[in-house]
Amino acid sequence: MKTIHHWIGGKPVEGTSGRFGPVYDPATGAQGKRIAFATTDEVDAAVASARAAFASWGGSSLAKRTAVLFRFRELLDAHRDEIAALITAEHGKVHSDALGEVARGLEIVELACGISSQLKGELSTEVSNRVDVASIRQPLGVVAGITPFNFPAMVPMWMFPLAIACGNTFVLKPSEKDPSASFRLAELLAEAGLPEGVFNIVQGDKAAVDRLLEHPDVAAVSFVGSTPIAKYIQLRAVEHGKRVQALGGAKNHMLVLPDADLDYAADQAINAAYGSAGERCMAVSVVVAVGDTGDELVARIAERAKNLRIGPGTDPASEMGPLITREHRDKVASYVAGAAAQGAEVVVDGTGYSVEGHEDGFFLGVSLLDKVPVTADAYRDEIFGPVLCVVRAGTYDEAIELINSSRWGNGTAIFTRDGGAARRFQLEVQAGMVGVNVPIPVPVGYHSFGGWKDSLFGDLHVYGNDGVAFYTRGKVITTRWPDPADGGINLGFPSHS
Ligand code: NAD
Repeated sequence: MKTIHHWIGGKPVEGTSGRFGPVYDPATGAQGKRIAFATTDEVDAAVASARAAFASWGGSSLAKRTAVLFRFRELLDAHRDEIAALITAEHGKVHSDALGEVARGLEIVELACGISSQLKGELSTEVSNRVDVASIRQPLGVVAGITPFNFPAMVPMWMFPLAIACGNTFVLKPSEKDPSASFRLAELLAEAGLPEGVFNIVQGDKAAVDRLLEHPDVAAVSFVGSTPIAKYIQLRAVEHGKRVQALGGAKNHMLVLPDADLDYAADQAINAAYGSAGERCMAVSVVVAVGDTGDELVARIAERAKNLRIGPGTDPASEMGPLITREHRDKVASYVAGAAAQGAEVVVDGTGYSVEGHEDGFFLGVSLLDKVPVTADAYRDEIFGPVLCVVRAGTYDEAIELINSSRWGNGTAIFTRDGGAARRFQLEVQAGMVGVNVPIPVPVGYHSFGGWKDSLFGDLHVYGNDGVAFYTRGKVITTRWPDPADGGINLGFPSHS
């Protein structure tokens, strides 16, 4: 069985803990690979490698750093298909969706290629007699990234391209469920000429994460994953004096006003709820149908849901693949029966679904639940699977109150033809990313990504300007080249009059 190792100091390093985690092909249910969970010493070796590399990388020229990133961008572009295939093999999402993930990661690499303009400082001349003030931003040192299973290539690329472009060195702890895509990215970075130790990977579980959180040489931690772990990461990182951004889970609401184009809204609800089997932090998991068009909207969503093609991600005919593990699939399925018992109407029941020839795969059909009570677990929890809840609201005000009382605030969207209502929604809704007739409003690379409330712990969002701010710290330099007339004793507080 193939074992996936760590990547330390520019090369693969065999894990020695004797502790392994399974890596499955979710379409067949077979375990084809395993990963070696890191020991504390192996995490320390990765951090030491990153620390040693920082001595020269942190002071290297912008031209040198961006030259590596441009070469990496070309390699990534040339290997899109191969990386997407690695994602499909371990995550299960369909190939076209995996290609989309690679494209969104590449977008951040391209942003990082232009880091020189983002790192330009500011200069004010003659703030006082012969005094100039300059603001610059410098790298932090060794930074760590801890990433989830659902975007095994894109989420690491939300982090490391900007981090290393800013002059930091990086230690990634990818999800133990689908580690091969990021391992391939490490090989491509080396091929692009990235010096040894600038980018490292430790495979592992909680033990590896905890060591990164407490390691004195790790200056900052970027985390993306579920809310309970995000909260834990923030607390532990702060306790150890680190800068932290920890993105958590979500329950994204799509509000549909009665004047919306119902066919368009139904199409978008399907795409956003069931794409990637609902395993997206920006998936629409709740449709809030306002007014008297709810029955018609549910009918149109149901009609589309029944026709979705579910199968292995390698089959170009499949529109939705399997879920990540058998346990997760079963847990998602349990929400459907639970919702029925708690008062929801099961309009489409995807439980018990199997794909011919892939009976052991982690497949689940899509489910549509209508009139879901807000007290039901299916409404209250992040299900992270192909289950769409519909909630009815009498008015816009009722709908916005419902959305704003959610504990999460990642993404949300409004579907309407009314510009005034859309404008009100943008200003009133409590979420970090808002779509107007756009169901999955993931910002482009040069705008930052992040939610509110239980969807993000910390202050700065990822990538875009916030990403650059997160991976650098500010320094302000006040300079005077004195004239003989500037001398003299004055104990007063310096002012600039
Ligand atoms: P997860 O929280 O289980 O795991 C995320 C990472 O944390 C993994 O690397 C994992 O090994 C590590 N980890 C898990 N348990 C840990 C523990 N007890 N102590 C220390 N580290 C631990 O998340 P997941 O299941 O891999 O990913 C799905 C979740 O991620 C969903 O909740 C989803 O909404 C969220 N997510 C959020 C965003 C966002 O941008 N807000 C993006 C993608 C995914």
